[in-house]
Amino acid sequence: MFNAKAYAAAAATSPLAATTVARRHPTGHDVQIEILFCGICHSDLHQVRNEWSNVMPTVYPCVPGHEIVGRVTKVGSAVTGFKPGDLAAVGCMVDSDRTCPECQAGLEQFCPNMTLTYNFPDKHLGGVTYGGYSDNIVVDESFVLRVPSNLSLAGAAPLLCAGITTYSPMRHWCVSKGKKVGVVGLGGLGHMGVKFAHALGAHVVVFTTSPGKKDDAIRLGADEVVVSRDANQMQKHVGSFDFILDAVAADHDIDSYIQLLRRDGNLTLVGAPEKPLAVAAFNLIFGRRSLSGSPIGGIRETQEMLDFCGAHNITADVEVIPIQKVNEAYDRLLRSDVKYRFSIDMASLKSE
Ligand code: NAP
Ligand code: ZN
Repeated sequence: MFNAKAYAAAAATSPLAATTVARRHPTGHDVQIEILFCGICHSDLHQVRNEWSNVMPTVYPCVPGHEIVGRVTKVGSAVTGFKPGDLAAVGCMVDSDRTCPECQAGLEQFCPNMTLTYNFPDKHLGGVTYGGYSDNIVVDESFVLRVPSNLSLAGAAPLLCAGITTYSPMRHWCVSKGKKVGVVGLGGLGHMGVKFAHALGAHVVVFTTSPGKKDDAIRLGADEVVVSRDANQMQKHVGSFDFILDAVAADHDIDSYIQLLRRDGNLTLVGAPEKPLAVAAFNLIFGRRSLSGSPIGGIRETQEMLDFCGAHNITADVEVIPIQKVNEAYDRLLRSDVKYRFSIDMASLKSE
């Protein structure tokens, strides 16, 4: 074991602060990565503040971070895919059982024995896994991704969660040319959703509560922007969408979006608000509309997404911050005040 520097929350109400955590030395198929950038996902905030206590109660200290890019520094003797000096990335998962039908299908995100990157039982050291707000991480090579060399590293980090979480359902629901696609909530996930829907050729409509984000939405690839608090603007789109991606982190009126779907249209929820959302049965019944959810994506599809981003030159729009600003960044995330993802420059951790 060795000590890695990290930022952790000691309790649901504590700010994150510098600490050290134990990491295993790389053996066998392990890859040790010096973390260069880590994105801040709203899930980090939900988890740190124990807002998902019913489903995934937080174990403290909690080191969040699952949008990781860095450079390989050491590899175990059985590693074949990576060598010291390579760029590497890690997303929301660090292991799975690799034998169940989900793993066999390349859908490790549904494996009953999957290990999340943080706040999950650590099979190697006991306790829980610690995430990317850290200077180093050690991960089995099967869960390490390759970063296309043309992408900026700070902007590539958020692809590992915000990217795959929006790309995967869009591929599943066949977003393509000729489809009318809505993206609700122009935050970290939402802005990636706009970029992907546009790159896949769809007609993209952004729904935002922030009128000040209108110009950005168009720049990011939207064809239309609707300020969702304006009922007249919403009314114009009733019954017209093939697919809507809902990436809102807080309580909101999901019914007002279900009504916008055409016959057999689908709304996929990727946002994970703390409290349940109310759905009126008849909004689904009339029009045979469907409501579903989607978690991140499998390893194979995550690599496909990264390669798609390399080919289309897609990265997240990021505000790079030092780790010392992470608590301020969380407060700003709650005010929807980020354009459009914070990416932590992990070199800042060296001074702690
Ligand atoms: P984010 O950057 O904070 O973006 C959320 C956006 O939602 C905001 O920018 C805002 O957009 C909108 N919003 C916020 N409060 C709202 C309110 N009260 N009513 C209506 N709209 C509101 O968050 P994120 O990192 O993109 O994450 C979004 C959600 O996805 C979180 O709940 C996160 O935990 C979840 N998530 C799920 C998965 C998965 O696998 N399914 C993966 C990652 C994240 P406007 O200003 O445009 O309105
Ligand atoms: Zn995330």
